[in-house]
Amino acid sequence: MSANTRPSILQSVIPITDLRRGHGLPIPAMRETSDGTTVRDQRGRQLRDLRISVTDRCNFRCTYCMPKEVFDNDYQYLPHAEVLSFEEITRVARIAVAQGVKKIRLTGGEPLMRRGIEDLVAMLAAIPGIDLTLTTNGSALKAKAVALKAVGLNRLTVSLDSLDDKTFRAMNDVDFPVAKVLEAIDAANAAGFEQIKINMVVKRGVNDHQVVQMAKFFKPTHGLHGNIVRFIEFMDVGSTNGWKMDDVIPSQEVVNRIHAVLPCEPAHPNHLGEVAKRWKYLDGAGEFGVISSVTEAFCGSCTRARLSTDGALYTCLFAQRGYDLKTLLRSGEDDALIANAIGGIWQARQDNYSEVRTAETARERKVEMSFIGG
Ligand code: SF4
Repeated sequence: MSANTRPSILQSVIPITDLRRGHGLPIPAMRETSDGTTVRDQRGRQLRDLRISVTDRCNFRCTYCMPKEVFDNDYQYLPHAEVLSFEEITRVARIAVAQGVKKIRLTGGEPLMRRGIEDLVAMLAAIPGIDLTLTTNGSALKAKAVALKAVGLNRLTVSLDSLDDKTFRAMNDVDFPVAKVLEAIDAANAAGFEQIKINMVVKRGVNDHQVVQMAKFFKPTHGLHGNIVRFIEFMDVGSTNGWKMDDVIPSQEVVNRIHAVLPCEPAHPNHLGEVAKRWKYLDGAGEFGVISSVTEAFCGSCTRARLSTDGALYTCLFAQRGYDLKTLLRSGEDDALIANAIGGIWQARQDNYSEVRTAETARERKVEMSFIGG
């Protein structure tokens, strides 16, 4: 990131401590469901996905997520006592699965920075019927891939914004070399993780020159085998990333650029509510995805809830406040009451932020992505 982008980030800095701690939206009581089991929100969407942020720390300082100007040496991370324990996370997960959650994604911050993460994966993997996945920046993956696979992690997503070392080091802002992430992806493939998702946030003028290169590199016949790049439109996550519409490369432009070099066509979604639109190459070898949360909002099929590092439930990535589950978890209440709380929160949900996003809403204060997971 060039030095001349710093002022806009600095100007956008606002105190976020109150957004992290000021949970406590009143938890609505759950109403009876029409079929006795299926919980739906105000727009008829079911609760299917739970993203769990296991730490608010990360060793990268990606300028769109945890910019150095905010997350500096003085930044106060959550004290240990406020972070949910593995037992508390597993309890919430088990209750949420009983209410319809099928997929659990571990995020952060950087989830592999949480000590003993393999133990948590093992605990969650023991819950019957869930698809368990994890999103990582890849920096510690090489050392942990075999252990994560062994304890039951089903799938992996690696965030990787560029293959060009100079660009990658500038974007992670801690001078981390891209070669180490590529080695980690190789190691994860060798450990048995197939079709790893490679998430690239595309920002105009910063890394968009890498789009075709990424598509080529991860195509099965080139570079690493069988992994799937997903190109994500740059979003106004959190309150510190200095988002402007001008910085967004629309997914259609990404597709056009790739199609010009590697002809492709749309593919059917793998499942209802799939966030990425799939494109397969006409030569039959491989596919990529685009996530168009700015130009083509998919709120209508959004089935995701987010559990923050300190145990608040958020019903949208762009939420300003969450619901404090931790207090309930630590007050000796039984599972039925926790289930009732999760059900009531979901039933009250109306979120559709990406459908109504404007330059104005982009400036609103939102909880940081590193706190609730991307
Ligand atoms: S803006 Fe909120 S409701 Fe819409 S898709 Fe994103 S997380 Fe879901």
